Amino acid sequence: MKSKRTVSFSQKATNVFFHILTSCNLKCRHCYINPEQHGENALPLSTIKTWIAAFVEKNKETNIIFLGGEPTLHPDLSLAVKKAKGLGYSSITIDTNGYLFNDILSKVNPEEVDYFSFSLDGATRKANDMIRGKGSYDRCIKGIRETISTGYKTSLIYTVTKTNINEINMMAPLLEDLGIDRFFIQVIGIRGKSAKIGQDKLQVSRSEWLSIIPDVAKKAAGTGTTVTYPKVFLSLEESFECAGVVAENYFIFPNGRVYRCPLCEDFPIHSMEFKDNKLVNTGRLNENDLFQLNIPEGCVMNRIIQPANLCYKSDGSPEYKIACCMLKEEIRAD
Ligand code: SF4
Ligand code: SF4
Repeated sequence: MKSKRTVSFSQKATNVFFHILTSCNLKCRHCYINPEQHGENALPLSTIKTWIAAFVEKNKETNIIFLGGEPTLHPDLSLAVKKAKGLGYSSITIDTNGYLFNDILSKVNPEEVDYFSFSLDGATRKANDMIRGKGSYDRCIKGIRETISTGYKTSLIYTVTKTNINEINMMAPLLEDLGIDRFFIQVIGIRGKSAKIGQDKLQVSRSEWLSIIPDVAKKAAGTGTTVTYPKVFLSLEESFECAGVVAENYFIFPNGRVYRCPLCEDFPIHSMEFKDNKLVNTGRLNENDLFQLNIPEGCVMNRIIQPANLCYKSDGSPEYKIACCMLKEEIRAD
């Protein structure tokens, strides 16, 4: 039997999202990487090791996700993984577009890497490659098969936009055929290249989201995959929490910026940064000041950068609230 639950923010766990470089072999249309704000350098291994060590806390679960750009382009990714493992990180994930450079599968092992997490934005070659580039679908599928046959667990991330929402209901058979362990449905964030394209061309409406995504998630979970998708919308009665206030998530970029909220990443309002390899707080105003604002719409960053998500009554009050982008629904086998 499968049951759905809202995954509230854990105060017991720290999650570290570490972009070790920003370069990539692909040029996806909605890529959130913004080199002007995030840097264009690849971090040297010595720096990666120092920064990884800054987030480990004794007696607290700490998870790390290596990201880019394409993190497998970094020749020392395997050594960074080994360092994280040695420091006692509770779980280690590598996000990848599937090209798996630098022979990464043979340089780490399933005891060290908990999940390889692949991005695919269409159930068909045509839809995916229109967004992520020619040949990327076939390479990603090949990468997933190789990874599973080498003994690793896998996740698949599908970022929903107006362009590909019509294919998400075709994902269940593909997940089953591939043998994917976790399926993450994401909502497109209006940042990086997406900010240039515009919210109206990318983000699906509330009614589309609610009428399609929960059913697709249920169907996908029927294949034995654990499915996670963002809650996105809250009724006025549901309580709102900002992960920037109640949770420990850190989004690190190679220029040293450390954010607590992914929706802030297009702006120089990071609340922490590495200076001379030391993690320090930045001066005000920064994202922390925004997290404190209590507005009837819920998430303040959504109100600022994705206002088309909202609807108002004739008296000017919102019809519903927007949840924190990190609040998820999860369906898994009991
Ligand atoms: S694979 Fe990821 S980092 Fe590379 S272009 Fe696509 S979205 Fe951006
Ligand atoms: S998405 Fe909104 S609610 Fe979540 S951390 Fe950012 S500002 Fe806070």
